Amino acid sequence: MATVDRRSVLQKLEGKECPWTEDCTGTLERGRYKGDEALVCPDCDTPIVRIW
Ligand SMILES: [Zn+2]
Repeated sequence: MATVDRRSVLQKLEGKECPWTEDCTGTLERGRYKGDEALVCPDCDTPIVRIW
């Protein structure tokens, strides 16, 4: 069984264009969402990936 390194998932998606809406051209940044590590889009303020 493969081990998934959650942190590498964050790194892989960091800097990608926001997938949330077509109107948003923000890039994903690492940040915190409710105290957990997450990737958030600063433009639309949406947490895309949250790591528990
Ligand atoms: Zn966005």
